[in-house]
Amino acid sequence: MARASARARGARRARRARRGRARREAPTQQYRCPTCRAELERFWAFCPDCGRRLSWPDTQKETGVECRYCRWMVSDRFSHCPWCGRDIADRASSPDPLKAPKGFKYHARCDWGCGGGVMYPMRFCPWCGRPQRWRYDDFDNICPRCNRGVDDWMDVCPWCGEDATGQDLIRRALTRARRLLVVARLKDWNYRVLLRPGVSGVTLRTPKVIEIERRYVTGKRRRDEISWNMLTGLILHELGHSFLSHNWSWTRTGRFRRAFGEVRKAYRVADSKWVDLERRGVTTTLPDFVTAYAATHPQEDFAETFRVYVARRGRLRELFAEFGRKRKGVIVFEKFLALHDFVRSLRGWH
Ligand SMILES: [Zn+2]
Ligand SMILES: [Zn+2]
Ligand SMILES: [Zn+2]
Ligand SMILES: [Zn+2]
Ligand SMILES: [Zn+2]
Repeated sequence: MARASARARGARRARRARRGRARREAPTQQYRCPTCRAELERFWAFCPDCGRRLSWPDTQKETGVECRYCRWMVSDRFSHCPWCGRDIADRASSPDPLKAPKGFKYHARCDWGCGGGVMYPMRFCPWCGRPQRWRYDDFDNICPRCNRGVDDWMDVCPWCGEDATGQDLIRRALTRARRLLVVARLKDWNYRVLLRPGVSGVTLRTPKVIEIERRYVTGKRRRDEISWNMLTGLILHELGHSFLSHNWSWTRTGRFRRAFGEVRKAYRVADSKWVDLERRGVTTTLPDFVTAYAATHPQEDFAETFRVYVARRGRLRELFAEFGRKRKGVIVFEKFLALHDFVRSLRGWH
């Protein structure tokens, strides 16, 4: 599946490139990873599927020259290697910056105004050697490590070789959330957690992709500034949205509707103002909802019910005692019972 969508995306990128929107080269040839055969775009530094480090020598004899340091294809007119950035100037180097010597295309002017041309996705200007920035509009996401473009199916960033999903940055919260799911007897439904800039949420179009606002992690200077409880809660809450989308037919049943209401009310899940995340407990303010945030929309009601259910390991007796003390309405008990029974019915199917 990943490869097919990669191909579709490659074509889309190529179209845009021709329209002049993005500075990407139309793929004239298919490139594949020598290790796993995944489809590649030329000049990616790593295979996004298996993580293998890639090299782009002059196999087609386009220029007849390779960088003496990194072995990638260069032009003898260059003064700097556009891939590793090292000084490779010699007698053949052009005394003045050129637009595009043989074997290379002109996609943009050097960001620094040296007068030379650069080709996507060169990291450095081959004339003045200074680092270049590119737009990554055609990618699904931005790598949380290097801020270059990555797609959602990628495990490894093709530019920096790090985890393209950012899961490694939230490992503690993810592991905790996964353990809680196991304890609550919820089977993995192949969800995929990704760090994203913007908001946290799940879209109905891609219900298995769980977006977590990356600022909670990447905006922190030190690891100990990260609130792992909040992150675990946020992940569980988003997992709730994903779980519901994944089992959408359940929302049409009478029991579900009586408990949570009409989830089809116009809505785009985007949790930017979530306030209940840090707490594992149940708030006292609204008798018919487990937390205040749950009252904002039936889908949030479900996600919050799911979060508390999983965070409390599916232990209904303990939860119901607390609901009693906090004077929750009968409907809150029924929401948890409906979820509990549904989870158990799923287990029965396997
Ligand atoms: Zn590979
Ligand atoms: Zn080099
Ligand atoms: Zn330059
Ligand atoms: Zn990266
Ligand atoms: Zn939500």
